This record gives sequence, C-alpha cells and structure tokens, in this order.
Amino acid sequence: MGRLLISEKVENIKPYIVDKREYEVKLDANESFIPFPKVLENELKEAAVRVLYNRYPDPDAEELCRLYGDYCGIASKYVMAGNGSDELIQILVNGFLDKEDSLLTIKPDFSMYKFYASLIGAKVVEYDMGEDLVFDRDGFMEMARVNNAKLVIFSSPNNPTGGIIPREDILYIVQNADALVVVDEAYFEFYGETVIDKISEYENLAVLRTCSKAVGLAAARVGFLIAGEKVIGSARKIKPPFNVNSLSQAAAAVVLKHREVIDGNVEQIKTGRDMLYRALTELQITYGKEIIRVFPTYANFVYVKSPAAAQIFEELKEAGIIIRCFGDYLRINTGSTKENELFIDNFSKFVRLHSGADA
Ligand SMILES: *Cc1c(COP(=O)(O)O)cnc(C)c1O
Repeated sequence: MGRLLISEKVENIKPYIVDKREYEVKLDANESFIPFPKVLENELKEAAVRVLYNRYPDPDAEELCRLYGDYCGIASKYVMAGNGSDELIQILVNGFLDKEDSLLTIKPDFSMYKFYASLIGAKVVEYDMGEDLVFDRDGFMEMARVNNAKLVIFSSPNNPTGGIIPREDILYIVQNADALVVVDEAYFEFYGETVIDKISEYENLAVLRTCSKAVGLAAARVGFLIAGEKVIGSARKIKPPFNVNSLSQAAAAVVLKHREVIDGNVEQIKTGRDMLYRALTELQITYGKEIIRVFPTYANFVYVKSPAAAQIFEELKEAGIIIRCFGDYLRINTGSTKENELFIDNFSKFVRLHSGADA
C-alpha cells in the first residue's frame, strides 16, 4: 500500500467547528431569525420548480448579479456572485497571495481570512486592537508597510466586535496601501454606510457582501464581490465555473425582488439588537465594567467581555441557549423578542452568580 503524507499546514489547521446540537434558543451564527412571509415562500417554491435540474447553472449568475447591482446601486459588471462570501474570500486569497506573501487583517476579526491564507502557506499578520478595541489607521498602515502586505482584509462592521472602521480611515488605507484592500461588509444593512461607491475610483478596493445575514438566506450560500474591472476580471478567471448552484441563484433572485421584505426585516433585527444592547448595558451599570463590559454595535449582535465568559457560555448551553464564546468575550446575535427575553433572563442570573453579589 502506498504511503499517505498529510502536509504540515493541514495537520496544523484549526477547522471551523460548528455546534450541531439542537438548542431552544440559537443566537450563535448571526443569522436572521425571521422566516419569509407566505407570499415569498410561495414564490420560492415556484422558482424551485422552474429550475432546470439536468442543466448546469448560469456560470455568471447574470440575473442574480443584475438584481444585486440594483439592490446596492451599482452596475452589474462590478458584481460577481459566490457560493457564500466565504468562497469569495478564498478566491481573493488564492488570486492575490502567493506562498510566503503577507495578508494583513485585524484581531479580532472573521476567522476565515486567516484560515484560507494559512492553507496556501501565506503569512498572516494581525493588527491587535487590544482590550479596548482601538483602531489606529497609521499603526495599521505601518504594519502593512513593514510586512509588505499584498492583501488587506477586515470586516466593517466587525465580526465579532460589532464595531466599525470610519469611512475616511478605510479610504485612507485604500489610498496608501500597495495591496488589494478588501472590506467585508457582511453586516452593511444594520449599519447603513458603505464604500461601494468608491470601487470605480480605486482599483485596489474590493467589497464583500452576503445574503446570509440581513437578506435571510444563509441556507442558500450566496455572497457577492463588488470591485473594479481589474479585480473582478481576475476573480472571474479563477473562480470555479459553476460556483453558485441554480437553486440558490433562483432563491436569491426571488428575495432580492422583495426589497420591502428585506428592509422590514432589517428594522426588526435592529430593534431586537437594541433590546439586547440595552439589557446588557443595564447589567454593566449594575455590576460594573469589570464584571460585564458591553461594546457599541453596528451589526445584528452584541459583543461583551466578562471574566466569567467561558462559564456563562457553558451554563447557557445547559439552559438550551447557544451563543459564541471567544476567550473572555461573548457574542450574542439577536433573536425574536421571546428568544432575547429567555437569553436575558438566564444571562442575568448567571452574571449575578459570578459577580460575587451573593457572596
Ligand atoms: C457571516 C460572515 C461571512 C460569511 O458569509 P457567507 O456569505 O455566509 O459565506 C463573511 N464575512 C463575515 C464578516 C461574516 O460575519
């Protein structure tokens, strides 16, 4: 029998782990908690019936890109669809980084940037925002220069912190970096500001969007790369030919034709997020920042710091509530009012337990 060797980079990679157990309250994946209305459900069914299952999908996802272009006010020649924005991250990493090249990102930020860069043997450099989540654009640019970064990528609003990088800082980075600068706007709808309007002005700027969060289509895996002709041209050359399947193209087309549904959902999600934020801020006031610290958010989740984060995370799981835990930090996305109330009741109880208030 031949010998199988697993490369060191694969041996060392930390896989993206998903907790697949069923929880009564699921606030861990930043998905939308809102099901589509009946009319839209019916349109989705009709669209699924019309799909030509024996044929390959449209490789350019033309209708979908046109609709997404309309959705964000940009010509469809600047839009490329992906099997989730996740795939587009991998395409950009593959296309714009060689082995040993540097990718610059932020700490903390979306883990998949690092994941795909590590897979091709690129160097990952992280600008650490520190305990107080401070971003200094000159410090960031210095890291880009020193490490000769070829690809700069970060999310704004940031996952997991919910914070943003101001538009003028983003444009400053784009103007001064000899690198492709990718702004991942997965949570754009909850914030409202974008740099998409600048992609025809700066050839080294690219924006990522997704239908998995505000649009409510995480199951379909549809994301978009929005960039100038050079970046889009390169990305098209190296993408898998039929990357977005016909069912997903059809489903996303249906939903994007109902902007009023998306807009209504975004308002509902923002209301839920504000409810979570207020409740968590009250706990911060009650117990102090040392016990629970809440960070400002522009996304559909709230990020908090607590020395008891890991214990509280386990206790919530026991109670049937799943959120995300990163060391001393927790990320909770908004659910329905009922889910939020269940979370807040349990969370308050556990925070009190670990605050020493009963001691
Ligand atoms: C959720 C998320 C994505 C992934 O989106 P998909 O389109 O579902 O692959 C990308 N970037 C960030 C920052 C996210 O939080």
